Amino acid sequence: MATFIVLLGPPGVGKGTQAKRLAKQTGLAHVSSGDLFRKHIKDKTDLGVLAKSYISKGELVPDDLTIAMVKERITCPDCETGAILDGFPRTPVQAEATTAMLGELGEELTLVPYIIAPEKVLIERLSGRWTCRASGHIFHTKFNPPAKEGICDVDGSELYQRDDDKPETVKKRIQVYLKQTSPLVEHYREEGLLIEVRGDQEIEEVTKDLLDALKK
Ligand code: ADP
Ligand code: ADP
Repeated sequence: MATFIVLLGPPGVGKGTQAKRLAKQTGLAHVSSGDLFRKHIKDKTDLGVLAKSYISKGELVPDDLTIAMVKERITCPDCETGAILDGFPRTPVQAEATTAMLGELGEELTLVPYIIAPEKVLIERLSGRWTCRASGHIFHTKFNPPAKEGICDVDGSELYQRDDDKPETVKKRIQVYLKQTSPLVEHYREEGLLIEVRGDQEIEEVTKDLLDALKK
């Protein structure tokens, strides 16, 4: 049986940061729907052009497009032993599709850590987030600064501020999260898969709580 984990939580809570750290420590693949969309935008694919029109407004990309993209990714060989899903599923329809696509692989979800932090913390984090152009490594001007300003510690690529991290779009994304994604919390709680993790701790502490939850 493989291990499939969904990291659930609002924008800015630390899903991407934690997914990368967990992937490194567990050997599981990191599947980030946001990173996949940003790659399509960078490559100027048809999906990228379409996705950009939603992402720049802080809205969700339609379910059918998102599901097809993640399904393709999840059937890649590096996901055979499992994956950490970051930013997917984000709607009840996507949650249903997750169960179905894992079912087709003879797999099921192992755990859904729900990372929580107050809205003030989310806004502070997103306003200082810097992302690496080459492979999406994540930094923060104050909380997790790179050794050299504007340069990714890992691969030396340029750091940029995401277009959708500007204050108006951040507010919209949090609203969209509350309306469309937060119902998944109760859904996964009922399934007995949910475990709450405090996101307003040091990065290392959050990772420790997540690894402890996974061991159980
Ligand atoms: P964050 O790191 O703030 O949680 P992401 O990088 O996960 O943001 O997502 C950025 C944007 O990409 C979202 O605001 C949305 O427009 C789009 N997106 C990412 N994942 C999904 C998804 N599962 N369903 C629909 N849209 C998505
Ligand atoms: P998400 O994927 O949930 O949107 P990110 O992992 O991109 O969140 O983190 C958002 C911002 O907050 C980034 O700039 C990141 O460096 C910073 N960050 C992540 N986790 C923490 C933490 N525990 N404490 C302080 N800052 C953090």
